[in-house]
Amino acid sequence: MKKSTIWMSLILILSIALAACGNGEAKKTETDRKQVVVTNSILYDMTKEIAGDKVDVHSIVPVGKDPHDYEVLPEDIKKATDADLILYNGLNLETGGDAWFTKLMNNANKKENRDYFAVSEGVEPLYLEGKNADGKEDPHAWLSLENGMIYVNNITQKLVLLDKDNKDYYAKNAADYTQKLMKLHQEAKEKFSKIPKDKRMVVTSEGSFKYFSLAYQIPSAYIWEINTEEEGTPDQIKNLVDQLRKSKVPALFVESSVDDRPMKTISKETGIPIHAKIFTDSISEKGDHGDSYYNMMKWNFDQIYDGLMKK
Ligand SMILES: [Zn+2]
Repeated sequence: MKKSTIWMSLILILSIALAACGNGEAKKTETDRKQVVVTNSILYDMTKEIAGDKVDVHSIVPVGKDPHDYEVLPEDIKKATDADLILYNGLNLETGGDAWFTKLMNNANKKENRDYFAVSEGVEPLYLEGKNADGKEDPHAWLSLENGMIYVNNITQKLVLLDKDNKDYYAKNAADYTQKLMKLHQEAKEKFSKIPKDKRMVVTSEGSFKYFSLAYQIPSAYIWEINTEEEGTPDQIKNLVDQLRKSKVPALFVESSVDDRPMKTISKETGIPIHAKIFTDSISEKGDHGDSYYNMMKWNFDQIYDGLMKK
């Protein structure tokens, strides 16, 4: 009896040990994949389009949150420290205001152009009004698909350097994705050319449409210029209301990642309806209209077109 109990125990211990080995193996394969950390959900989606499941991608700022101002968590420092590659927007997005990204990189002991890279490299910067200086760029370059395609190219180059074995896979995905974005870009340009000139104006809470305005020839107006400033002061509201009263703009828009109350005030004061929620600084949760970079751009284009074509 005693002998068989010992055998039973041994078998049990062995099977536990084997199971543990099994787990260890599975874990090892997972951690063997390169770890890519990006700052926000738009860059996350673009990187996933190119990389598929060949690398692990993690976004620091969660979906729906503001990437200009972000409170870094201890787990972000851990993720950044362990990352094989870190991608950020640049152009004064994560490094504007209280510069959360710069602090995070210092804490994680990471160096620019060795460990982390700006995906906006090569974009012709536009500046905040009256401020033609470094550190005063408008960050929202991705709201023009022309720039989005530059991002895709930069991300692909960094992935290829990180993981040469999958070079062809990344190149193929990037080519397909770019073609899809190019088609949407051409469609948008054609569509927007039909909007009567006196109705062409995208009105949003944050002045994030400079690159969009240039690419699609639709001027823009806003309550506040950038999220790192005060948002929705009485003066800002009054300025926009005055501007809109002189215009024939038929629709207003509000972004998914801002407080919608200031825009509701604008709508009440001017009688111009808020036509739709659009996506600027974040994609949406899965299943909502803007749940990828492509879907968010397409949704914005469609809503802006429908809103501005109203009587
Ligand atoms: Zn923004």
